[in-house]
Amino acid sequence: PEGVRRRLAEGHPLYSFEVFPPKTPRGERDLWRTLRDIEVLRPAFVSVTYGAGGSSRDRTTSLAERIAQDTTLPVVAHLTAVGHSVAELRRIIGSYAQAGVRDLLVLRGDPPADPQGPWTPHPEGVRYAAELVRLVRQAGDFGIGVAAFPERHPRSPDWEQDIRHFVAKARAGADFAITQMFFRAEDYFRLRDRLDAAGCTLPVIPEIMPATRFRQIARFAELSGATVPAELARRLENARDDAEGHRIGVDHATAMARHLLDQGAPGLHFITLNRSTAALDIYRGLGLPEPRRALAATAGGADRGTR
Ligand code: FAD
Repeated sequence: PEGVRRRLAEGHPLYSFEVFPPKTPRGERDLWRTLRDIEVLRPAFVSVTYGAGGSSRDRTTSLAERIAQDTTLPVVAHLTAVGHSVAELRRIIGSYAQAGVRDLLVLRGDPPADPQGPWTPHPEGVRYAAELVRLVRQAGDFGIGVAAFPERHPRSPDWEQDIRHFVAKARAGADFAITQMFFRAEDYFRLRDRLDAAGCTLPVIPEIMPATRFRQIARFAELSGATVPAELARRLENARDDAEGHRIGVDHATAMARHLLDQGAPGLHFITLNRSTAALDIYRGLGLPEPRRALAATAGGADRGTR
């Protein structure tokens, strides 16, 4: 296998970054600066989100294609079932294959108008992510990621059903999972214990969201169902300026990420919001691999040896 499956098979932790398709020329510049900053780290992949309700379909596909063609970064393209018939989904999957995208993050998505409202599938579409996983499996040789929820999916009535439906995605052919954002390492460990108990060994990569701004994180938490620990919320709310907020968020995420890795998490997936500073500060704070620096150090060593 190639792409993420090959990297998983190597058995080392996978470090990856998430970006979204920008809407403005300025956003485009920020994104490409971020991609170049990330590229030197040789991450396992960069993932490109799929706008709510499929709204960014064309921007997602064209950005994923550009990254695949113009950078050395392996791409994981997100795909949701929202608003698409099975025939359309097959076409989108086919165009990814043609563009050299080898891995997809396969999601159900949420209702576009009211993300927390009732979910109605497209009349000729699929109902749950597991069905889309099967569709992608049939359509081509892709590595397949799925979503995992350390605080359980907001719509799952209980843990038992949540885990059962997650395991169904693994059985349908998923190769790995990426979690929803969370801010307490224990939530991740408890999910892993529940999956272990269910006999599910799918690698679950924790998502790292730097919580640097109180209002932004409160909104994300509400949308995603993640709990922001009261102490973290209080410190962010009282931050004197952006720089202090940045430090609080980066310190919290770095400590949590270190704990996750120490306890055997198979990698880290960093949300960038198309800006590299917070994600890279966490990455560097953890002392994660920096191939270019390693290369410079080796070259320096060789130099000294010849003198
Ligand atoms: P599913 O696995 O289908 O689960 C949805 C709910 O249905 C769960 O409660 C589950 O328990 C339940 N369920 C599943 N199967 C059954 C069944 N057979 N019977 C009854 N109930 C069932 N959204 C976007 O729009 N674009 C993105 O780019 C995007 N990226 C994301 C990236 C990550 C890492 C994560 C964690 C989420 C992302 N999302 C994205 C959000 C995601 O689309 C929503 O969280 C969505 O509500 C659930 O998607 P899912 O793939 O987990 O759905």
